[in-house]
Amino acid sequence: MGERMILDSNLYKEHGYIKGISLGLKITFLKMVYFLTGKEKRMTLNYPEEKYFYSDRFKGKHILTTKEDGTLRCTSCMLCSTYCPAQCIHIVAADDSDKSVEKAPVSFEIELLRCVFCGFCEEACPVDAIRLSGEYELAGNAEQEWVMDQYHLAFRSTLNGGKGIQSTVDDKDRLKLRL
Ligand code: SF4
Ligand code: SF4
Repeated sequence: MGERMILDSNLYKEHGYIKGISLGLKITFLKMVYFLTGKEKRMTLNYPEEKYFYSDRFKGKHILTTKEDGTLRCTSCMLCSTYCPAQCIHIVAADDSDKSVEKAPVSFEIELLRCVFCGFCEEACPVDAIRLSGEYELAGNAEQEWVMDQYHLAFRSTLNGGKGIQSTVDDKDRLKLRL
């Protein structure tokens, strides 16, 4: 328990009740004039009309990136789910028709309510298949609304209008390794 703050009961006797109220109202009125005339920058935003932009380092909702042909880059190696400290990534792998990558996820789910947005998954991924975006607007009611499947993670409307985010990171190096 923190210490209780005891106000000096003699303060109002010293300054007077009316003087204190007047000073408070004066400050409020002056601030209102400063904000309306643009003399001072407001500390608050008119959300959602105005939005705050965090730095590129901000870690928000996950993205699954795609290959040039529009399929997921994920090769179901399970490194992200193994490293995840919250154990909130669930992947079901299957053989992929592209024999050069062997596996692809038939199901890739992230439980956002358990996620701590640490970024370990994107660091662990060897093929840049998962990233944390700058999206911070997370809201939902039922528990199911917080489980993001691969379609939402890769093709939600905020990601290039639903076309997904393509990644070609290290593609050339990977092709060289196959030769
Ligand atoms: S950000 Fe961290 S907690 Fe969230 S899914 Fe990735 S590794 Fe797990
Ligand atoms: S997202 Fe990356 S680390 Fe996770 S399973 Fe897919 S390829 Fe592996």
